[in-house]
Amino acid sequence: MTAIDHALPIAVIGAGFSGTMAAIQLLATLPRSRPVLLCERADAFGRGLAYATRAPAHLLNLRAANMSAFSDRPHHFEAWLAEEGAEGVRRTPAGTFAPRGVYGRYLSELLRQALTADGLPRLRLVNDAVTDLEPSGGGFVLRTEGGQAHPVAGAVLAAGNLAGPGEPASRHRVDPWQPERFGRLHPHLPVLIVGTGLTMVDTVATLRGQGFSGHIVAVSRRGLLPNVHEPAEAWPAPNLTTGDLASLSALVGRIRREVASARAAGVDWRGVVDGLRPVTDFIWRSLPAPERDRFLRHLRPFWDVHRHRTAPPAAQAIDEEIARGSLTVLAGRIRAIADEEAHAVVTLLPRGEEQPRDLEVQCILDATGIGRVSETQDPLLRRLMARGLVRPGPFGLGLDAGPDYRALGTRGGGRLWTLGPLLRGVLWECIAVPDIRNQAAEVADLVAMDLERAEAA
Ligand SMILES: Cc1cc2nc3c(=O)[nH]c(=O)nc-3n(C[C@H](O)[C@H](O)[C@H](O)COP(=O)(O)OP(=O)(O)OC[C@H]3O[C@@H](n4cnc5c(N)ncnc54)[C@H](O)[C@@H]3O)c2cc1C
Repeated sequence: MTAIDHALPIAVIGAGFSGTMAAIQLLATLPRSRPVLLCERADAFGRGLAYATRAPAHLLNLRAANMSAFSDRPHHFEAWLAEEGAEGVRRTPAGTFAPRGVYGRYLSELLRQALTADGLPRLRLVNDAVTDLEPSGGGFVLRTEGGQAHPVAGAVLAAGNLAGPGEPASRHRVDPWQPERFGRLHPHLPVLIVGTGLTMVDTVATLRGQGFSGHIVAVSRRGLLPNVHEPAEAWPAPNLTTGDLASLSALVGRIRREVASARAAGVDWRGVVDGLRPVTDFIWRSLPAPERDRFLRHLRPFWDVHRHRTAPPAAQAIDEEIARGSLTVLAGRIRAIADEEAHAVVTLLPRGEEQPRDLEVQCILDATGIGRVSETQDPLLRRLMARGLVRPGPFGLGLDAGPDYRALGTRGGGRLWTLGPLLRGVLWECIAVPDIRNQAAEVADLVAMDLERAEAA
């Protein structure tokens, strides 16, 4: 690897949770002479897709006890919450759940502290979309949409959750993350949400928060709703054998037996699912590729609704909607959409039925979740793929990367690291705060070691 100028910054691309924490950890780990350039295309730093919301009904889906930004200070967020006296915090028998906007404020506050720490302007904020990394010397020239060019020693790609494929195609389709674009909704025509997971739960809250009082229909292939958090004792991670990991069916059988043993001991299935967390990546890596593929095609929705659970107040709001008949959750497929001037006619085939039904809706909200790298239209990722600096990882879910978080491309490795949801596929547990906070600290150590070696060369 080429030697590198000791005064060039390390760039961090994206200032959601991953990029914010990577920048904070880099500032703590790199020598004081090395600046950090944190680039974010959205208006706000330290929020990202998950924590930009200001809606009080959008609650964190993890307990406050699990949301510290630092793994070596596990009570950091809870202590901040207590000191802040933040509004909208919900205390339930299953734990404390804060609004996601409050968590965004916590991250912004950490960033503000990092900006003013040690009296040195080492953290530079660039409020622009990064469009390219042009290899130069041992590092890159980072280019932005607004025409800026910054020479950098290396970069950490923290671009996070990718936009979905933009389906179903309809002029009435609206992005659930852009509520300002919902327009004026009329109570007499239903709204269709495609997807029945956590994003659907949020979208229902957003619609009601905007005063929409009409009927909401949510559809997904299986119509599965996320489970709710409940108090659950921890159950130890199972000692998995080679036989357990030989196939998906062997693994599922083993986990079912584990759940039965837990139940016999008075422990809820949630304790077993949570207990798997430390070994989930090991399981993912150990399963043969065809079995991982089977998991993605058949089992993933079931895993997701058990693993990614809702805060009790959010689940209660959905239960009440269903009981009132103001929300209908359907299992089925969309067969066709015919756009009319003021509405769309959606043809749905309910699961297990032979006759499709037509549904007139005034808008369609795509809550099917996060896009895959292999299908992304993201200009930066497409540019980096064209340059051979990155490539899609297993199953095209995220980017390919080594165990040292270094992005793998078709040309030799550069000083480009990645973390967070972009690692989906290489890792399985990489999208939530407890995973990303560890990755951010590890990436910072690895970048520091790499630069130290290069400076010594
Ligand atoms: C709605 C939602 C709720 C969630 N709730 C929780 C929760 O309660 N608890 C939990 O642990 N996890 C939760 N998650 C998981 C979440 O993925 C992680 O907690 C974390 O927020 C991921 O952060 P990120 O920075 O990797 O991604 P993102 O939040 O997607 O942030 C990426 C950032 O990069 C910026 N960016 C992208 N490309 C560029 C570019 N080219 N130039 C400049 N900037 C760029 C984007 O604008 C964005 O701000 C939630 C996820 C979602 C989507």
